[in-house]
Amino acid sequence: MKPPSFDYLAPTTVSEAVQALAVRHGARLLAGGQSLVPAMNLRLARPDCLIDINRITGLCQLEVKEGYLRMGARVTHHAVACSTLVAGVSPVIAKTAAGIAHDAIRRRGTVCGSLAHADPAAQWPLIAQLFAAQFDLQSVRGQRRVSVDGFFQGVYQTAIEPDEMLIQVGFQVSQPGERSSVRWFSRRHGDFMIGAVGMRLSLSSDGRIDTLAVVGGGFEPQPSELSMIFMPLRGHRPDREAFQVLIEQAAKLEYLADLRASAYYRRALLQRLLLQCFDDCGRAV
Ligand SMILES: Cc1cc2nc3c(=O)[nH]c(=O)nc-3n(C[C@H](O)[C@H](O)[C@H](O)COP(=O)(O)OP(=O)(O)OC[C@H]3O[C@@H](n4cnc5c(N)ncnc54)[C@H](O)[C@@H]3O)c2cc1C
Repeated sequence: MKPPSFDYLAPTTVSEAVQALAVRHGARLLAGGQSLVPAMNLRLARPDCLIDINRITGLCQLEVKEGYLRMGARVTHHAVACSTLVAGVSPVIAKTAAGIAHDAIRRRGTVCGSLAHADPAAQWPLIAQLFAAQFDLQSVRGQRRVSVDGFFQGVYQTAIEPDEMLIQVGFQVSQPGERSSVRWFSRRHGDFMIGAVGMRLSLSSDGRIDTLAVVGGGFEPQPSELSMIFMPLRGHRPDREAFQVLIEQAAKLEYLADLRASAYYRRALLQRLLLQCFDDCGRAV
């Protein structure tokens, strides 16, 4: 399949890119093209202009600043997976990036492109929710920072306005001693996942749960924030049986159902992944 015809622009600065977005209402940004181009080939997306951001310099930064691991719009899954910085400050993020799709896709696909695309079956929205992401958006109207709460608005829907570009995302850096785990299930290696769970757990000096963040991905249109359900565990020592009791409440979601898995299947998957994450974090501490 070939895409419908389109104009092609290759700006060299963010300012040029957002100026083009402001005047070309049918335009779309092109990052790695790993989601957009297949959608165009299938005629599911018909932008009349592509604004290629790959010649813009200064969007490849991968750095820790003000407690956040910040990644520019051109940072690929591969760059994250290979980064010693990421492996040091958030090993679970490096591990997750290394498990996305296949090598060829990881080398082209970008973190920001995946977040802007907001596919419920993608790993980055889950990571964003788990690590309290901040999104830096730019347009000709100026720059604004949006927190993860409210960023994801449904399947393929985000708070990014049509004339805005996501120039950088930041993920909260893990606290010393914090344990984290991300588990997902896909039918074959490299396939989009059917469901995923992410967890961050920290203990106080006497071994009691201090903080516990739990997020589901792929079960609902946007990442499922499950932390409140497990609040009763705070202040207690990690207890698998107590965790299992609370899992029942987490199971009461509005599950997605599609050709890959029924809502019933996803419900059972969520329960299994939750327990795996809890075991990972419990073992690690
Ligand atoms: C066979 C295959 C398997 C895959 N498997 C997985 C998987 O298992 N897990 C997974 O998470 N992903 C998977 N992907 C998707 C892949 O990770 C993509 O790279 C990612 O979803 C999109 O990133 P991109 O840079 O390619 O974005 P593009 O395809 O270039 O763009 C996607 C959308 O985001 C917009 N966009 C891009 N960058 C910006 C920006 N900076 N600001 C605003 N809007 C922007 C574009 O306009 C477009 O609408 C797979 C893809 C393929 C082809």
